[in-house]
Amino acid sequence: MPRPAQRLQVFTESVIREMTRIANRHQAINLAQGFPDFDPPAVLLDALTTAIRGPHHQYAITWGAPRFRNALARKHSHFSGLSIDPEKHIVTTCGSTEAMMVSMMTACDPGDKVIVFSPFYENYAADAILSGAQPIYVPLRAPDFTFDPEELRRAFASGAKAIVVCNPSNPSGKVFTREELLSIAALAEEFDTFVLMDEVYEHIVYAPHQHTVFATLPGMWERTLSCGSLSKTYSITGWRLGYVIAPEALIAQARKVHDFLTVGAAAPLQEAAVTALELPDSYYAELLREYTAKRDVMLGYLKQTGLPYTEPQGAYYVLVDISSFGFKTDMECAQWMAQEVGVAGVPGSSFFREPEHRYIRFHFAKREETLHAAGQRLVDKLKR
Ligand code: GLN
Repeated sequence: MPRPAQRLQVFTESVIREMTRIANRHQAINLAQGFPDFDPPAVLLDALTTAIRGPHHQYAITWGAPRFRNALARKHSHFSGLSIDPEKHIVTTCGSTEAMMVSMMTACDPGDKVIVFSPFYENYAADAILSGAQPIYVPLRAPDFTFDPEELRRAFASGAKAIVVCNPSNPSGKVFTREELLSIAALAEEFDTFVLMDEVYEHIVYAPHQHTVFATLPGMWERTLSCGSLSKTYSITGWRLGYVIAPEALIAQARKVHDFLTVGAAAPLQEAAVTALELPDSYYAELLREYTAKRDVMLGYLKQTGLPYTEPQGAYYVLVDISSFGFKTDMECAQWMAQEVGVAGVPGSSFFREPEHRYIRFHFAKREETLHAAGQRLVDKLKR
C-alpha cells in the first residue's frame, strides 16, 4: 500500500473527541468535549422547523446565504462597533473549525511560521501543519496565563507570518486584557503579521473581565481574520455554522479557500440561524447569567475536592490540577476518572506544547443537574 502523507504523521487525532468516545464507553458524564446538554432557544427550534419545510434544500451562495450574512453583519456591527458589509467582509463556514482552517490557508504559504500560544485549542497546530505552515509556540504561564513580552517579540522577530489568539481562551479560561492585546497589536504592526482571532466565546466573559474585539484596536482591522461561530452562543454545536470576518481583500482570498474546501455551510440551517442572530441584547445577558451560575456550581464542587484549579475569566473550561494523584500521565488519570469516577475530562497535555501533565480540563456547558451529579462524583471520589 502506498504510504499516506507524511504531514499526517506529526499529529494525532483529536484527544477532545476521543474523550467523548471514552466517556460514552464508560457511561461517564461527559465534561470533556465542550458542548451543551441543553436545548437551543425554543424560537430557534421553531425557525428550524419552518426552514426545513421551506425551499432551501440546495446549495446556498458559497460565502453564505444573503439573509444569514445580513443578519450576522448587523449583529457583529452592533456588538463590535465596526461597520461590517455583508457583501464584502464575511465568509460563512462550517463551524469556526473551518473558519480557522480557511484563515490559516488565507494567511500562510507552506513554510511560513505561525505563532501559537501554549496552552492552545488543539486544532490550531493541526491547522498550521495541514496548511504546510510551522507552528512556533509561546507559553502562557499559570496561574494567570500571561505571556512574556520579550519571548513574544522574539517569536515575531523569527519571521512569523501570523499569530493565532483565542480570546476568551480555551482551555485556560483567560480573557486577554486590552493592554495585552495592544502589545500583541503593536508587534503585529511592527513585524507586519496577520492576526488570526478565535473569538467563539465572545459572549461568555465573566464580570469584571471584558472582551475586546481585536479587530477594533487601532490599525488591526486591516490585518485581522476574526473567526466566530454560532455553536457556543446559541448552543447549536451540531449545526456547524461559523464565519470569518475580515477586510474585503482578505475575504476575497478566504472565499476561494472555503469554496474549494466545502462549497458552503448547510443552507436550511443558515436560514433558521437568522432568528438566532436577530435575538435581542437581553438574550446575551441571560446567556452570561446562566453560564456564570454554571461556573459557580462547578467551582463550588471543585473547591470541596480541595484540588487546585484555574478560575475561568471567560469561556466554559476549568483546568484542575491532578498532580497529587501521582498518575504517570494525565491520560491515565483521565481514563481512570471516566471509568472509576464516572466523569470524563480532557487530559491537559493535549493543549500544551510543553510536557505538562498536571491538568485535566473539565467544561461546564451542562444543565445544572448534570453539573451537580458530576460535581458530587468528583467530591465523593477525589476529595483530598
Ligand atoms: N471547542 C470544544 C472543546 O474544546 C469542542 C471542540 C470540537 O470538538 N469541535 O471541547
